Amino acid sequence: MKITQTKLVDFGKRSELKVYPVSIGAMRLPQDDSEAVSLLRQAIDAGMIYIDTSRGYGDSELKLAKALKDGYREKVILSTKWCPWNIKIEPTDDTSAECVYKRLLESMKRLDADYLDFYQLWSINNNEQWLGATCKGGMLDGIFRAKKEGLVKHIGFTTHDKPENVSRYIDEADWCESILFTYNILDTSYEEAIAKAHEKGIATIVMNPIGGGVLTEDSPPLNDAVKNAIGAADLIEIAHRWLKSNKNIDTIICGITKPSDITSTIENYEKDPLTAEQKQRLSAEIAKISKKNVGFCVDCKYCLPCPKGIDIPGFMHIAYFSEFLKADERARDVYNWLVNPSNASKSADPGECIECGKCEPKCTQKIEIVEMLKTLKSKFGQ
Ligand code: SF4
Ligand code: SF4
Repeated sequence: MKITQTKLVDFGKRSELKVYPVSIGAMRLPQDDSEAVSLLRQAIDAGMIYIDTSRGYGDSELKLAKALKDGYREKVILSTKWCPWNIKIEPTDDTSAECVYKRLLESMKRLDADYLDFYQLWSINNNEQWLGATCKGGMLDGIFRAKKEGLVKHIGFTTHDKPENVSRYIDEADWCESILFTYNILDTSYEEAIAKAHEKGIATIVMNPIGGGVLTEDSPPLNDAVKNAIGAADLIEIAHRWLKSNKNIDTIICGITKPSDITSTIENYEKDPLTAEQKQRLSAEIAKISKKNVGFCVDCKYCLPCPKGIDIPGFMHIAYFSEFLKADERARDVYNWLVNPSNASKSADPGECIECGKCEPKCTQKIEIVEMLKTLKSKFGQ
């Protein structure tokens, strides 16, 4: 399988690079090295030439180093990233220029690369982090140094911040050549920011094109929404055709763990984009099953703070996946991440709820939070 129907596009005017609209997410490569090498080469040969990895993705960089031998390095646009609030490699890691420069050199060594095409500030998730990363002597200065030395060609950032903040960062960041956003039929919150970045010549990259896996699960409400809107029930195909209809997106990241991830993504993405009318109908159907319209958490945070440090909105978000969409695999993944000790925003375990009753009266959606926490704990807790 090769990308044939879809042409190379500008990878943002600023970078002057070209990319195919489907790219490699190297977060969950096969455990076996030779399998990983063969899979990565298969994806590159198919036309997936932009590669997204991170110092924090286990041994992904080491596997890539092996895959990018024998002439493969020259075929790709290689991007890695790091930040101390996601993963500290050493306990003393911080947001200084010196620290990120050290991590960048380390990534180059792990990737066995003489230079990196892109280095990204990883996960700018609030204004404080933005200021910490971009202040004088902060992470960005360390990346600028590497760029000046020819070690990095282009700089970008990845984000889960509020769309209005991201829009401001786009205005401020004349150095920025790429942004990695979450965007899919279930989450369109960055639509305007993506359009703005594209207009300014910043490469727009989309992660989670299939809702972090939600769209691969057999979700009755989602199946019905797609059936009602398009008359077809293949969620993944529709998700890709919907993305393809947005011309402000330069490329989407497809996480590859097996050969069929490559073939199915390319096959689905090469089909016709949804028409404007189909998109409109789909948006209307998806809106009907939005969290707000079906009485799930809308992330207003009025229930906080919880005296035990439980991330109530985070768990209620999981409840929507599990109890409403019936997407238990995705729900379990998010649950495990929320209580994972290596997560800088780790929540207290739902089992720590003391039923103090402070949260429920404040909930704008009248959710029975205590009971819901118990349900989630019994479903996904160890
Ligand atoms: S009832 Fe439980 S979840 Fe709600 S505020 Fe009290 S301890 Fe936190
Ligand atoms: S108050 Fe209710 S709707 Fe708002 S964040 Fe808390 S649980 Fe969600």
